[in-house]
Amino acid sequence: MAENTWCPGCGNFGILNAFKRAVARLESEGVDRSRFFISAGIGCHGKIFDYLALSGLYSIHGREIAAVQGMKLANTDLFVVAFGGDGDSFGEGIAHLLFAAKRNADMTMIVHDNGVYGLTTGQYTPTSRRGFKGPSTPAGSVEDPIDPLTLMLVAGATFVARGYSGKVEQLADLMARAIEHRGFAFIDVLQPCVTFNDAYKKYNAETEPATHDPKDLVAAMAAAARRDRLPLGVIYETEKPVFHRELMGEHNPARDRLGRAQRLERIACAFDTRGPAMP
Ligand code: SF4
Repeated sequence: MAENTWCPGCGNFGILNAFKRAVARLESEGVDRSRFFISAGIGCHGKIFDYLALSGLYSIHGREIAAVQGMKLANTDLFVVAFGGDGDSFGEGIAHLLFAAKRNADMTMIVHDNGVYGLTTGQYTPTSRRGFKGPSTPAGSVEDPIDPLTLMLVAGATFVARGYSGKVEQLADLMARAIEHRGFAFIDVLQPCVTFNDAYKKYNAETEPATHDPKDLVAAMAAAARRDRLPLGVIYETEKPVFHRELMGEHNPARDRLGRAQRLERIACAFDTRGPAMP
C-alpha cells in the first residue's frame, strides 16, 4: 500500500475511512471483493486509489467517469465506483458526468467536494464560493458556484445524496446504499481542505439530516436548493432502466466470451459472406 501523503486533518481521510466501511459491510452481506472496480481522476482525491486494495484503473482529469462505464459494459457483474474531485467532476469531466446521469449508467460517483484545487495549491474550482481568493483569483472569484445536487437532479440521476467527511458513519451508509443502487448513484461529499479551504466549522454548524421524502422530486429539488442549512443524506432516489440492460439485455461480454474456435468460425462465416479480401 502506498504511503499516505494527504495533509493531517484533510477531509479525504473521512472519505477513505467511510468507503472502507462500506466495502466491509457489502462483503459481510456476501459481495465478493473481486467484484469492486474503482477509478479516480487527478488531484488530492485521486490518491484514494493508492490507499485501497481494490482493482481498477487510475484515470486522468474527469475521465474516471468514462473509465468505470467501460468497465461495467465489459463485465456487467461488477460494482464500479468513480472517485472525482470537484474540479475534476464539474470542470474537466462535466460532460461525462451529465451523460452518465442521463443514460442512468449503473455506477457510483463519489465527489470529494472541497471547493478548491488543492494539489495545485489552491486555485478556485466550479464549486468555490463567490469571493474565494486563490492564486488564480487573487481579488476573489466573481462567479457563483455550481450546485452539484440540483445539477444531478436535472440531469436525471436516480440516486442523489450529500455526505460530509466529518460524519463517517452516515457517509459509509450512503456509500453502501449508492453501490447497491441499480443505476447512476451520485454522492457529493463535503470535504474540508484544511490547507486551502478549511470549512470544518461551517459544515459542523450548517449541516443537518435531510427530513424530506427522497421519492418526491419536488421536495428533493427544494432540499437541494437550501442555502440556510445543508441537508445530509439521500436527497432523491428512484428507479429507471439501467443503460447496460437497455443496450445489451442480459448479455455480459466477460461471461459470454467466445472461445478461440468459436471466434475463428465466426470470422470464417464473415469471410464466406463477404468474399475474399482485396489483395
Ligand atoms: Fe487535503 Fe487540501 Fe491537503 Fe489536498 S491540499 S491533501 S485536499 S488538505
